[in-house]
Amino acid sequence: MKVIPYGRQLIDDIDISEVVRVLKSDFLTQGPEVQNFEKNFSKFVSSRYAISSNSATSSLHIACMALNLGSEDLVWTSPNSYVASANCALYCGAKVDFIDIELTTFNIDIDKLELKLKRAKKEGTLPKIIIPVHFSGNSCDMEKIYDLSKIYKFHIIEDASHCVGANFNSKKIGSCEFSDACIFSFHPVKIMTTGEGGMITTNSEEMYKKSTKLRSHGVTKESADFINQQNNPWYFEQQILGFNYRMTDIAAALGSSQLKKVNQWVEYRKRIASKYDMQIDNPNVTKINLKHFIGSSHHLYVIRLPNKDLRDRLYNELRKNNILVNIHYIPIHLHPYFANLGFKAGMYPVCEEYYNTAISLPIFASLEDKDIQIISEIINNFS
Ligand SMILES: *Cc1c(COP(=O)(O)O)cnc(C)c1O
Repeated sequence: MKVIPYGRQLIDDIDISEVVRVLKSDFLTQGPEVQNFEKNFSKFVSSRYAISSNSATSSLHIACMALNLGSEDLVWTSPNSYVASANCALYCGAKVDFIDIELTTFNIDIDKLELKLKRAKKEGTLPKIIIPVHFSGNSCDMEKIYDLSKIYKFHIIEDASHCVGANFNSKKIGSCEFSDACIFSFHPVKIMTTGEGGMITTNSEEMYKKSTKLRSHGVTKESADFINQQNNPWYFEQQILGFNYRMTDIAAALGSSQLKKVNQWVEYRKRIASKYDMQIDNPNVTKINLKHFIGSSHHLYVIRLPNKDLRDRLYNELRKNNILVNIHYIPIHLHPYFANLGFKAGMYPVCEEYYNTAISLPIFASLEDKDIQIISEIINNFS
């Protein structure tokens, strides 16, 4: 029986020949392809700068560092995300806290955010950075979060790992109109891939310069930036403690080639979402309201069941039929590592309720109509 994963990459012959071209060239890393990809990406999202890296996790880490996040600081993010959204704060020695989600979009609840900010201001525990996660490539209300950031003085890093090709207010996510930086992932299950890879987009020159340095050992080769003035042609200097988080030229060439297809792929995904919407018809199944997903890149298509028991049974039924559905996400605060930091079940009840009742159905650019039909039929026959 055919196996249908929940997400997968789409690689064509042009992608392959682009990678082969780089393999035969002089540079496998730190050559022209990385710069090209960054230029193409910043043009695609209309940001001033783009800084690539070897993963969204690395990009989140260096974006936090570029905003001088330290051990006295707090970061708030969504509990309905991959652990990387919170780990970036912990890498910097900062503390992390979460804002519960809402059930229409599964993004952070802005009313709860505002209440939490009011309380934190009284208690002197305001966050330095908030990392909104655009679940499924469906933007949080960035205008509202931006307005709050002006009142409560926090920085904003968008975790846009799901969002290549997505829009907010008819502008591409990544334009950073309402944030300091925006982070993308090119892991193979995401909208486009470089194998592993990540990108920061920003309009801030300081963010650009610091992130570029942090990505490569904290080193600069720009003579204008040297602390010790030297004319020696071999000279470079390490100015801060950075990492080797660089993307390879091989990956970047794949990225540039994939990027050309993203807008079309997002259209395919949108079509798949509306087909599920039309074909799934089971009184026990709640579909997402597509009205709340305008501009989404439709990284995930989530259905919900009335309770955990029904959810688990439908999950098993689909898996038994080789439909490799998944659950996004195990709430970050419920992982043992976070339990050790003091987080407990019950702290973010909406996220936990969502986790117990949700299933992510297969959605990817090459998913065929007949597969959508098969999946919908299994769901419709389920009771
Ligand atoms: C995939 C993902 C990440 C991590 O991306 P990598 O490129 O695998 O490091 C972070 N946040 C979210 C929301 C993700 O989906």
